[in-house]
Amino acid sequence: MIKYNLLCKKCDLSFDSWFASSKEFDKLKKKKMINCHSCGSLQVEKNLMAPKLINKTLIYKNEKKDLLRHQKIRKKMSEYQKFIKNNFDYVGENFAYEARSIHYNNKNRKKGIYGTASKKDLKELKEEGIDAQLIPWVENENN
Ligand SMILES: [Zn+2]
Repeated sequence: MIKYNLLCKKCDLSFDSWFASSKEFDKLKKKKMINCHSCGSLQVEKNLMAPKLINKTLIYKNEKKDLLRHQKIRKKMSEYQKFIKNNFDYVGENFAYEARSIHYNNKNRKKGIYGTASKKDLKELKEEGIDAQLIPWVENENN
């Protein structure tokens, strides 16, 4: 099972839906069996990211070039990075500090954050119960 966050192009409603697989989503979409919960429009698109990355979940940035050898993955990653840049605040080296300030001070941020952190930072954050997502990242990518 896979959960997609779907977005209605007509009324901007975003909602979650479960599918057996990504193939099933495509199939249903082709058959016009996916429509908006609110307005019934068929102009429903997959939101790029799983919803669990939105809100307070934090992102850890890392460079892992090995992962990006395949064209397909590269493309996905660059879409992913674009999404993150648009929807998360970049905090750079202050990642661990900012993550803690959100966690301990209940600091209200509209967006999640992403930035760099060392392995040690990440381990410590984990021990403190702070959820940080590890993602591969490539800088200055030229297609
Ligand atoms: Zn709608």
